[in-house]
Amino acid sequence: MTHVPGEDFGAHPLCADEDPDLHFPVSEDVSVPLIREQVERAKAVCEQCPLMATCRENAINRGSEGIWGATTTAERAEIRRERGLSGKRHRQVEPLTARDVSAGAGRVLDDLEQVRGERLPLLRKQVRQALYQARRRGDGADQQAAAVMRLVQPEIDWLNNEQDAPGEVAA
Ligand code: SF4
Repeated sequence: MTHVPGEDFGAHPLCADEDPDLHFPVSEDVSVPLIREQVERAKAVCEQCPLMATCRENAINRGSEGIWGATTTAERAEIRRERGLSGKRHRQVEPLTARDVSAGAGRVLDDLEQVRGERLPLLRKQVRQALYQARRRGDGADQQAAAVMRLVQPEIDWLNNEQDAPGEVAA
């Protein structure tokens, strides 16, 4: 993991001085003692960080995974639910079908950008390349749609999973 939480906010993020993996545990199941210990250590760093409030709000709106602003992914999902954001995200992203693949891919990308609140230029480029390569191979519409969905499905799964997480009540 090379991305440092808080690196875009103009001040020095304290996590930049830590092991880069500290804020990205292999899971966030705090019933596991080793994981709980890591999450608590990461949160303790955040609680001393001058960027904590900004970092937390950004992560809530952006849907990032890991420990940001002294919150876990599940805790931010709970905050999003309390703010009425989760259901909105869930409804806005619909899967792509084989009908009119190019327009459908554009719609899915527009939806993802809207619910994440940020542009996704790399994903757009990857989708364009996947469609180009699929057409060069002579793939049909179903295969073209599948190629696009392989790229965008992780984003859609993430948005849906935050509603379906174990022990959480769907909005
Ligand atoms: S609040 Fe935590 S995750 Fe965010 S920049 Fe500070 S130390 Fe890093």
